[in-house]
This record gives sequence, C-alpha cells and structure tokens, in this order.
Amino acid sequence: MSNRRIFLALSLIVFCATALTAAEPMKALIVDGQNNHKWQETTPVLKRLLEETGLFTVDVATSPAEGEDMSRFKPDFAAYDVVVSNYTGDSWPEEINQALIDYMNAGGGLVIFHAANNAFPKWKEYNEMIAVGGWGGRNEESGPYLRWRDGKVVRDRIPGKGGGHGPQHEFQITVREPNHPITKGLPPVFMHSADELYSWLRGPAKNVTVLATAFSDAEKKGSGEHEPMLMTISYGKGRVFHTAIGHAAVQCASVAFITTFQRGTEWAATGKVTIPVPDDFPGPDAPVVRE
Ligand code: ZN
Repeated sequence: MSNRRIFLALSLIVFCATALTAAEPMKALIVDGQNNHKWQETTPVLKRLLEETGLFTVDVATSPAEGEDMSRFKPDFAAYDVVVSNYTGDSWPEEINQALIDYMNAGGGLVIFHAANNAFPKWKEYNEMIAVGGWGGRNEESGPYLRWRDGKVVRDRIPGKGGGHGPQHEFQITVREPNHPITKGLPPVFMHSADELYSWLRGPAKNVTVLATAFSDAEKKGSGEHEPMLMTISYGKGRVFHTAIGHAAVQCASVAFITTFQRGTEWAATGKVTIPVPDDFPGPDAPVVRE
C-alpha cells in the first residue's frame, strides 16, 4: 500500500472509532426504594425521560424497604456517569455514604429529585451536596433559608422550620441564571403544571447557584418569598443538579419539568448541555403537559 492509502485507511479507522465513542451512551443510576412519595410510579417515568434523550442507559438500584436490613444494599455509584436520587428514608450504611462522598469528590454527577431533598437531615456531607433541604426536623441549626430578594440570592438565618408547601397549584418559574448551560435558551419565565411549591428549604447552602425560582404566595399558604426551584451545587470535583419540582408522575409530564430534568441530568453527568429546548416548551401563561 502506498503511504497515501495507509494514511487514508488510518484516517478511516480513527474516524470510525471517534464516531463509535460519541455514540456510546452514558450510564445513569436511579436510586429508590424508600420515599414518602410514590417512587414506584416516578422512577419508571424518570428512566424513560432519560432514555428518550438517547444519551443514557439507565439502571435502577432499589433499597430494602423501611426498617429492613440495609447491609446488602450496595449501589455501585462509581460505575455511573450520573446518579439520580429518588430516595428519602432510612439511613444508609456508613460504607454507602462514604461511597457517595468518594464518588462526588472524584467528579461524579448527582441529581436530587423533589423529595430526595427531604433525605438524611443529619448527614453533613449529603446536606452540603443538596445545599438546602426540608422536613426531617430541619430548622435554623440546619443552615439558612435560600431566597431571591432584590435581584440576588439572600441567605436568611432567622429561626424557623425547614420545608413546607401549600396546596398544589400551577406556578411560574423565573430563570435567574440565563447563561448557565441548563437554562440557556429557556424563556425568562415559564409555567409549570400544578405541583407542590417547595418552600422554607434550608441547609448549608454552600457552593450553590440558584438557576430559577418560584414565588411562594402567602395567599396560597406559601412563604411570601421567591424560593429556589432549580439549583446547581459543586461538591468536591462533582456536580449536583437539584430540582425541587416533580411531586408525582403527573407533574413529571410537565414540559417545564421534563426539559429541566433532562438538561440538568446531562449537565450533572458532563458539565455541558446538548439537549435542545423543545418546541413545546411553555411560556409564562400556561403549562404544557405531554400525554
Ligand atoms: Zn411532593
């Protein structure tokens, strides 16, 4: 073979290898098994939403039920590009806690889905990963409230409960960081379908970026504050995407949820977002729900 032919053959091999590598899906792990929400209903929806991006294959690690022996629950976080938590319940064995800390310190990706921010009120590192959380006895000792006031994030240390919400209702979500990869290209204000508007979340609130907020109207038994709905947190070398929305499967059909969840998970996995904003993404006036 001539040098030119060898060069062309090698180029073809390199091109094919690159194409194959690019097409290789990433690995996502959803953790569930205990929750004060219907995890059996939401996990299949989250799995489908990630798979339909074409970017992920998805495994599920289901813990033993509440009160049962956890010693054989050993999710292999390190084998995944991103871990999605749909879990709140019994403490994990110390070994599993440490495995999550090590995974994040080494540059892992973590997604905190709705009530996963209720989990582990006493686990210091977990609370640093999620920035703010609710319930489980959280109060001013857990850290400040994280609110948006006068164009900026405010950490409010006044005493009070951690976590609360009024009745479900449709609400607008306002983007506060339009240049972040997750929010870039979204309308500045968009409507979410009827959901719990998580309020009074509090925690260490370190290394957190508030991407979007929602106004928690006191007339709807809310806090009267602009509360964080979408957040990113850096922990060690790792990336966390925290979404406070998505109470049940019906809320996970809201395009506001779908798009931010898919893009947030891609960002947690890679630090980038390639998933486009869909044509049916809602504006400020009405939610869009997919059948
Ligand atoms: Zn809920």
